[in-house]
Amino acid sequence: MSTKTIEEKQYLLRFKCDTKSHLTVLDYEVCKTNCPDKLCTVFCPAEVYKWEGNRMQVGYEGCHECGSCRIGCPHQNIKWEYPKGGHGIVFRLA
Ligand code: SF4
Ligand code: SF4
Repeated sequence: MSTKTIEEKQYLLRFKCDTKSHLTVLDYEVCKTNCPDKLCTVFCPAEVYKWEGNRMQVGYEGCHECGSCRIGCPHQNIKWEYPKGGHGIVFRLA
């Protein structure tokens, strides 16, 4: 049995993006002033959260829907929902 590289595994992912984000940072000031470690930029496996300039950018289009940010934000500052029906990640079979 062959072992797949992470790049090969990522190749199996496809996204049908909605025009509206299913992830909402509730208060950007909390990120800026109360969260020096910006943990969402570390624990998100898809690198959806990026601290750019002075603000959190949320690239919801690449979300793997793992749910980690629902419980991982130390300030409960992320509202997490599933993407609208028919949208979001699509897993292809190898
Ligand atoms: S972990 Fe939560 S509070 Fe901290 S930067 Fe991310 S969204 Fe903001
Ligand atoms: S659900 Fe998972 S992949 Fe999507 S933004 Fe949250 S931590 Fe990242």
